Amino acid sequence: MKLIPETGWAEQPATVEQSLTGAVDCDVVVIGGGGGGMSAAIRLAEKGIDVVLLEAKTLGWGATSRNAGYITNSIAADPELLGLLLKSERLRNLYRYAENSVHFAEDAIERHEIDCGYQREGIVMAAVSKGQLRHARRNARVMAEAGSPAEFVEGRAAGLPEGFLGGVREGVGGTLNPGEFVLGLRTATIASGVRVYEHTPARDVTDTGDGVTVETPDGKVRARKALLTTNAYSAGLFIAPKNLVTPVWTSLVETEPVAPERLDEIGWTSRAPMVTLHMILESYRVTPRGTIVFGTRRVQTGRAPLPDRTPAPNVADDLVRGFHDRFPGLRDIKPQKAWGGWIGMSSTWLPVAGEASDNVLYSLACNGHGFAQAQYVGHLLADRIDGAPLHEDLAAIWHGRKRFWPSLVSGPALHAAWLADRASDRLAALTK
Ligand SMILES: Cc1cc2nc3c(=O)[nH]c(=O)nc-3n(C[C@H](O)[C@H](O)[C@H](O)COP(=O)(O)OP(=O)(O)OC[C@H]3O[C@@H](n4cnc5c(N)ncnc54)[C@H](O)[C@@H]3O)c2cc1C
Repeated sequence: MKLIPETGWAEQPATVEQSLTGAVDCDVVVIGGGGGGMSAAIRLAEKGIDVVLLEAKTLGWGATSRNAGYITNSIAADPELLGLLLKSERLRNLYRYAENSVHFAEDAIERHEIDCGYQREGIVMAAVSKGQLRHARRNARVMAEAGSPAEFVEGRAAGLPEGFLGGVREGVGGTLNPGEFVLGLRTATIASGVRVYEHTPARDVTDTGDGVTVETPDGKVRARKALLTTNAYSAGLFIAPKNLVTPVWTSLVETEPVAPERLDEIGWTSRAPMVTLHMILESYRVTPRGTIVFGTRRVQTGRAPLPDRTPAPNVADDLVRGFHDRFPGLRDIKPQKAWGGWIGMSSTWLPVAGEASDNVLYSLACNGHGFAQAQYVGHLLADRIDGAPLHEDLAAIWHGRKRFWPSLVSGPALHAAWLADRASDRLAALTK
């Protein structure tokens, strides 16, 4: 299995935009060209606002091109847990925001005519043990009460593979190739009139009271307002609120192509994309190129400055072990390559946006479910920066204060969660 440092979904862009040298002025500077930053910059350009977009590598280099490709209305934490911790109105608002994010991302695919293999097929939060199945029933109830289109399904009836007992099927969303999506969104961003500077990391962001200055290795941007869409990398920027983000490295593996009849034989007749109900999820999906992509399970924290890296060999091996356990009928299928990316975990485990200072807004929509959400939040923040009142979906994730509680996400806690998941797997095998 090849461990690769970039996305495994598509080639890197064929050409690179210029990097910034010297000083430039603009109305708004967007820092970080992932799905969130590109979406924000496009929106600002549409409004006739003079916008500069700074990207440390090439647009889409981060999580947006590397993820598992689920367009989902899931919110980071477990639905049942959210039901216990949050007031019902807050939960309804969050699920409305998440569903609107899905529709926003779907519209973006159409609007920018992006060919990325999007399949509107819904996603199943699937149970691999009787305990998880009971959990799935409770999750379906909580989500339905919160107004989310989700239903409980039995494994056989839903065409899930053997060993997957059933789960919650989300009524919206589906899967795509994130690498291809990013290439399309990058083209749309460049064509929109945004002044894009690639290979231009923001080193320092200062709110001067009457505007913002951004220092880059060979230049400087002066703007009226700034938008931080740097996701996991926000941890390296002094202006980002303290404790806003913990970077977490997450890995994926892709197999060689699998003959369709092999999938039918193991009962995966629906080809439904799945995530399991472990504390740290496992994801399994079939791709349009006939391979299976699976991932997460074992994750690791990082510190700024975040390195470019590949998955750790023991993590990739653990993912393959998990694949063999879940799909004993496909043990002969060879893993081909593995890659990963940095996720930004907020200290609340919920998507969050707010003001880092009077002239600097930020978005951290992700926690592993932010592909659609980051884009939607970027768009809404662009409107906000242009003076629009706080949109109700932005209000659902708005953080009014500048500080955050220290995060409970840490290396030891994530390792303990992985151990607990493996213990629950062993227990499930014993009580089958
Ligand atoms: C392996 C993996 C699987 C995932 N699976 C899913 C999934 O299936 N579904 C889902 O919804 N979500 C998933 N996610 C999460 C999702 O990909 C992210 O939430 C989302 O893409 C975040 O978008 P973003 O624009 O906020 O950040 P990013 O895409 O990370 O973009 C941030 C950008 O900022 C740039 N940058 C950083 N620092 C600077 C700086 N100082 N100056 C200039 N530029 C800078 C980076 O290079 C990067 O391009 C997954 C993530 C990973 C890593």
